[in-house]
Amino acid sequence: MKKFLTFQLILLLSYNLFAHEGMWIPSLLKALEGDMQSKGLKLSAEDIYSINQSSLKDAIVHFNGGCTAEVVSDKGLILTNHHCGYGQINQHSTLENNYLKNGFWAMSQSEELKNPGLTATFIVRIEDVTAKVNNGISDDIDTEAANLMRSDAIKKITSEAVEGTNYKAVIKPFYYGNEYYMIVSKTYKDVRLVGAPPSALGKFGGDTDNWVWPRHTCDFSVFRIYADQDNNPSDISDENVPYNPAHHFPVSLNGIKKDDFTMVFGFPGYTQQYLTSYAVKDYIDIINPSRIKMRELSLSVIDQAMAQSEKTFIQYASKQSRISNAYKKWIGQNLGLNEKDALAKKRLLEKEFLNRVAEDKKYKNLLDQMEGLQLKLTKYDQANSLFREIWYYGPEIFRFSKSFDKLISDFSDQRKEKKLSLAKEFYSKYDAKIDASILEKLLPVYFDFLDDDLEPTIKADIELKYNGNYKEYSKDIFAKSCFVSFSNLEKLMGCGLDKFKKKIESDPVYQLSKSILSKYENDVKPAFYTNYFLMQDQMKKYVKAQMTYFPNKTFWADANSTLRLTYGKVEGSSPRDGMNYNWYTTLDGIIAKNNTGNPDFEIPLRLRELWEKKDYGKYGSNNQLNVCFLGSNHTTGGNSGSPAINAYGQLIGINFDRSWESTMSDIMFDPEICRNIMVDIRYVLWVIDKYAGAGYLVDEMSIVKQKKTVLVPEALEK
Ligand code: ASP
Repeated sequence: MKKFLTFQLILLLSYNLFAHEGMWIPSLLKALEGDMQSKGLKLSAEDIYSINQSSLKDAIVHFNGGCTAEVVSDKGLILTNHHCGYGQINQHSTLENNYLKNGFWAMSQSEELKNPGLTATFIVRIEDVTAKVNNGISDDIDTEAANLMRSDAIKKITSEAVEGTNYKAVIKPFYYGNEYYMIVSKTYKDVRLVGAPPSALGKFGGDTDNWVWPRHTCDFSVFRIYADQDNNPSDISDENVPYNPAHHFPVSLNGIKKDDFTMVFGFPGYTQQYLTSYAVKDYIDIINPSRIKMRELSLSVIDQAMAQSEKTFIQYASKQSRISNAYKKWIGQNLGLNEKDALAKKRLLEKEFLNRVAEDKKYKNLLDQMEGLQLKLTKYDQANSLFREIWYYGPEIFRFSKSFDKLISDFSDQRKEKKLSLAKEFYSKYDAKIDASILEKLLPVYFDFLDDDLEPTIKADIELKYNGNYKEYSKDIFAKSCFVSFSNLEKLMGCGLDKFKKKIESDPVYQLSKSILSKYENDVKPAFYTNYFLMQDQMKKYVKAQMTYFPNKTFWADANSTLRLTYGKVEGSSPRDGMNYNWYTTLDGIIAKNNTGNPDFEIPLRLRELWEKKDYGKYGSNNQLNVCFLGSNHTTGGNSGSPAINAYGQLIGINFDRSWESTMSDIMFDPEICRNIMVDIRYVLWVIDKYAGAGYLVDEMSIVKQKKTVLVPEALEK
């Protein structure tokens, strides 16, 4: 039995070797250089990340802190996903100029659209500062004192690192604080919208196809970074000029083949590979199902309203995407984790862990302690997650009404004016009827999921007064509230502070928001964070122990929104018995999906016409246009918009998604099924050039047709 277990475990651990699991810190790539080159890479680690010369990292952009983008011209042109630029495209859209629906193309730099608040960040350097952060901290110092010492050290190291520069430095824990890295970065704040395909292409397949393979989405948008005359970051200004990057990606028209080496370079957001089986079980059984239910209810209201009116569509498009994206991902995650029996695999690992640490008194009781702590944590973890759902993704009126607290504490004319302009903006994208329906559906479910002692006090009043009729309750409070229309609020702001305060504080919507928030602040948040931080400390020990007792295993630090490289190859998969995913899709598949009549597969007439003529130019081959492809690169959210790069450092696609089963890779990467989805760069260029007639943008790029390692794109034959 023991032998069998060990064999299974060796299999489990050695998956790494074939599977391309891992999101690697670029400054440490030297250790992987041999492996990457043996798999086909023609570059050195220094070509990918260097602080002494330009390297691929200089063309990687953290797009607005959440997505990734890549520089593709010496004039600061960047590509990211359509779903990453969606908020900006939505922001510029009106009923008259509906860029979401029709697409947008600046035909010259003067037509590009400015986006206040949008940022593009480059990484200057990454430094291991573990020893400096832990300097003077010994094992006998208690956790709280050690944390204080670390945060003092972090302040000192970061401020010294950026003194006299326009850089920013942050230090982040890796491996739950077993290591610390400092990331020095430079952020540009003038980033303009250059182009976006119509949603029928950029979001082709909608929610039907999101997280699904086979996929045919042209998920890209184009922006340009502007700098001051010295190429430095500057606020938005007409004086700014296109940014001249240290590196931009050559774009390959050479095509892609099965088994080709690929890399994805970007900013993966969040993974949790080291969770115990107890935590994963709660995730599958408790956290995911409740938040899936909450989102399903919101979407049932929003989707229906959006389908009925173009105005509502524009108002709610971004919000809908924010809600539906993770909703569908979590369903896929549970599916994959269950089908691949992630729990059994975790338990197997834990069994072996216990065997190996049996004689070590530092670690032998660790898993027991973690199991006990998990029991306490789950209740608050669940309440914390539900609060996030209702507060940030539920009825918008909650946060809006509570935001008036600040105005009450400073009722100056200046503040009032600012608040009015923010309120105007809020109402332009708000429909009180929709919000009331969301409230009606979400509130009882929210209360039901919470343990009795964590329910907001207002619940008892609602039950008493409305006899549990949440429809009636929602209707009533929305009818009586001053927050449902701009003119009400404007009038109210004209009153003196006393009257204003009285009115706000007695408003039934405000009272509901206040009750929910204060219960969270008082009874959920402190208990959640106390247990959460205790668990983080245990996780730190658990990971350290694994590193000590599994010396042959390759470890990688969970994603934490820092720059990472992942590599794999172009390949499909067999996600289920009898099922095969081919590694690429073509324009023919778009037409076939369109023929099904599903509205998510509607396409502009122009696309069908170009398809009929097979007008693919230099972007097609064999009378076909490839549109998307699959790879075994380990990616997650935040990798959206990341460049897909070939062995020569050339751009071959843009990463935008994973297949449904693959979403389990945030918790456990399974080499058989985890695949990332990329849009083929030839499809992107074809849409820019042939479909949209913005070929001048393609001319601006360094298009390459040969396989050659030339890192300076200017030196390439065109
Ligand atoms: N489509 C994804 C996202 O929205 C990217 C991924 O998670 O693979 O974040």
